[in-house]
Amino acid sequence: MKILVINCGSSSLKYQLIDSATEEVLAKGLCERIGIDGMFTYQKAGSDKQVSQIDQPDHKKSVQLVIDALTDKENGVISSLSEIDAVGHRVVHGGEKFAESTLITDDVIKAIEGCNELAPLHNPANIIGINACKELMPSVPQVAVFDTAFHQTMPEEAYLYAIPYEYYTKYAIRKYGFHGTSHSYVSKRVADILGLDYNKAKIVVCHLGNGASICAVDGGKSVETSMGLTPLMGLSMGTRSGEIDPGVMEFIANKEGLELKEIMTILNKKSGVLGISGVSSDFRDLDAASADGNAQAKAAKAEFIHRVVSYVGGYVAVMNGVDAIVFTAGIGENDKGVRTEVCKHFGYLGIAIDEEKNSKRGEEIVISTDDSKVKVLVVPTNEELMIARDTERLAK
Ligand code: ADP
Repeated sequence: MKILVINCGSSSLKYQLIDSATEEVLAKGLCERIGIDGMFTYQKAGSDKQVSQIDQPDHKKSVQLVIDALTDKENGVISSLSEIDAVGHRVVHGGEKFAESTLITDDVIKAIEGCNELAPLHNPANIIGINACKELMPSVPQVAVFDTAFHQTMPEEAYLYAIPYEYYTKYAIRKYGFHGTSHSYVSKRVADILGLDYNKAKIVVCHLGNGASICAVDGGKSVETSMGLTPLMGLSMGTRSGEIDPGVMEFIANKEGLELKEIMTILNKKSGVLGISGVSSDFRDLDAASADGNAQAKAAKAEFIHRVVSYVGGYVAVMNGVDAIVFTAGIGENDKGVRTEVCKHFGYLGIAIDEEKNSKRGEEIVISTDDSKVKVLVVPTNEELMIARDTERLAK
């Protein structure tokens, strides 16, 4: 089957056309600045990227551009729209309603809308993408794959917040967790690579990108994860604070005369490693600034690593053991220094890193030594492939 995978944001739309038989990406690209002016990127497998300015007043126009590019006589990869067998959509928040991917119906769209309050920046954009595809490809089955679904297996003690219980029953305020598609894909790969029984393995997944979260996967199920009701919780990230004492918010409000909304913007956009370093949200810039002796950049990296260590350590305890720790996403896949520094703290578990293997980039690799008691790996994430697999299964 040929599956079109769509990841729709409020002003952007990422796409990939995947042949599910070979799991090959036939073409991929990005629509940006939707509703502003419009940039369109298209890349056919084995060819160079093509970037052009094309007006995109709305997402429907963007989806049309994607279809036109994929079916283009010269540069396309399919001869007509009828070759697209199914569309898989990344949907950020499925609340407690969706513990699995699902075929999209009108009722499902309503249920996703019901979760909009939980992800006001993301879910409405996801629905816009779904509706645009429905209009242009009415007979093609569409599937929703949720970032939160994998974590619906967390036990109550992990997802409840210690606030009045009525906020959970009335408003569904609880920990949901995100990056579920990535945590699921990467943990499965680890079991395959190491030859472990996925239903018995204990794996800690460190998804360290601009957004970052850690997940404890015990017997193929997420039992604990670091993001919460929203993706603001847990590790410090590029620009997000992650976990802070909620009292900090009142303190800043009083001192600086700020409204809650302004404080939320600070915690989402001006905090994290950008906030501490004052340099950048990007680890490449922090590495460069640290090497130049910038003390705040060093402090930002050290704080980030410290938090990763404390979550990983906590999750090993939650699972009462660990077979493997795996790094993925932009920082996890590329920053060997971060991996080394994190793993230094787990000597007591018998972890040892082979620095030569740790220097490799862009491939699936076991970076621990042969005699390391717990295996440490790097596995590049592939959320699109996971979406394509679920879409194929449900569309069939
Ligand atoms: P997201 O999907 O959350 O936007 P990514 O997983 O793409 O994020 O990760 C992006 C981040 O990865 C960058 O902001 C940067 O901090 C980090 N990164 C990417 N390449 C490197 C590298 N070579 N060395 C260190 N960090 C890197």
